[in-house]
Amino acid sequence: MVAVQKALIVGAGIAGPAAALALAKIGVESTVVESHTGPAAGVGAIITLAGNGLDVLRTLGADAAVVSAGQQISEIVMSDDSGQPFARFPGGGHVLPRDVLAQIVTERATTSGASVVYGRRLVEISPEHDAVVARLEDGTVLEADVLIGADGIHSTVRRLLDPHAPAPVYEGLLGFGAPTHSDKVHAEAGVMHFAFGRRFLGYWRLPDDRVCWYAALPHEQLSRKQVVAVPPEVWLERLRTEYAEHVPAKDLLAETRSADLVATGPTLRMPPVPRWAGDRVVLVGDAVHAPSSSSGQGASMALESALELARCLRDARDVDAAFRAYEAIRRPRVEAVSAIAAAANRAKAGAGSAPAAPRFDPVDHHIDFEARVALLD
Ligand SMILES: Cc1cc2nc3c(=O)[nH]c(=O)nc-3n(C[C@H](O)[C@H](O)[C@H](O)COP(=O)(O)OP(=O)(O)OC[C@H]3O[C@@H](n4cnc5c(N)ncnc54)[C@H](O)[C@@H]3O)c2cc1C
Repeated sequence: MVAVQKALIVGAGIAGPAAALALAKIGVESTVVESHTGPAAGVGAIITLAGNGLDVLRTLGADAAVVSAGQQISEIVMSDDSGQPFARFPGGGHVLPRDVLAQIVTERATTSGASVVYGRRLVEISPEHDAVVARLEDGTVLEADVLIGADGIHSTVRRLLDPHAPAPVYEGLLGFGAPTHSDKVHAEAGVMHFAFGRRFLGYWRLPDDRVCWYAALPHEQLSRKQVVAVPPEVWLERLRTEYAEHVPAKDLLAETRSADLVATGPTLRMPPVPRWAGDRVVLVGDAVHAPSSSSGQGASMALESALELARCLRDARDVDAAFRAYEAIRRPRVEAVSAIAAAANRAKAGAGSAPAAPRFDPVDHHIDFEARVALLD
């Protein structure tokens, strides 16, 4: 029996609209409030949606649009910084801008009956008898059976749920990338290349034949705003110095124009969050388990959590039981993925050895949405 009829979802990134879409499948009505004034155009990096994320979208009926909007990558090649490959294995997913993914899922959610309200920021939550009341910055008061915090890595809902909740941890790396016309670097079509060594560089061939690279620069912590305040020429010079001995980074960086340089900002990761849920309030996505960009799994984990949460709400006798089952199912998996990413971040920061081909592959995961949640029997 469905324990709720009406959900208020905070955040229209990936997890929020996915939760609305999954809840629509079980007959729960959702309102999504988003602080941005419109759909997320231009917000966020280019991401790889892995197979497990696409699998969730298939269940939600939103996979076809992602497949046609994304560039498919089916293999990963790892090499050292002399250009010598040491591992090659199937993997990757669909590469697309985060905002395009967010828009696709949001559009599907609204088509399924959810309403999305832009330009509204949640500031306060108070539990009421059999309901939760949310106050928005503009004074609006909204009431629902449950409130789902899908408000990203700097989550307000997480802090309201537990003022002692941990903050994201800076992994010691600043992210940069650029599309580059390269005569010198061979990037195989459909392959994601990871070049480890003293410094890390990822790259792949774009459909227009340019090579898109992304680098992780060990650096003291700066906010994205502080990074962007430094002229791109300065960062490009710094990257060229840091990667002077790195194959193929030295060539790609030499061929990159400073106008094309994109700063993605500090690499952040959420440490384990003690409280995933409280009185009719629950967290999904980066708000509770951001594994950092190194995992290539943030969006996929957000989608998985949204689907499992809806499944638990469908099968539980009450909201508390649903939230307990949801956390029990999700916590071990997201913390394992985060641990892999933390090891990769240490290697990228020069404090660990390059990872081998993964022993635990997060992509190998399917959620059978129709099956009853066994934990609730
Ligand atoms: C450089 C970089 C590269 C990445 N690469 C990958 C990758 O290759 N593969 C992958 O799977 N993931 C990747 N990720 C991670 C991925 O982008 C996130 O995991 C994913 O966006 C999480 O979705 P979310 O909905 O939980 O949070 P978000 O996408 O951050 O959405 C949260 C939303 O909540 C809104 N919000 C916040 N506070 C409030 C409030 N108080 N009231 C109302 N609205 C609010 C925000 O405006 C935002 O729209 C990468 C991230 C970065 C930074």
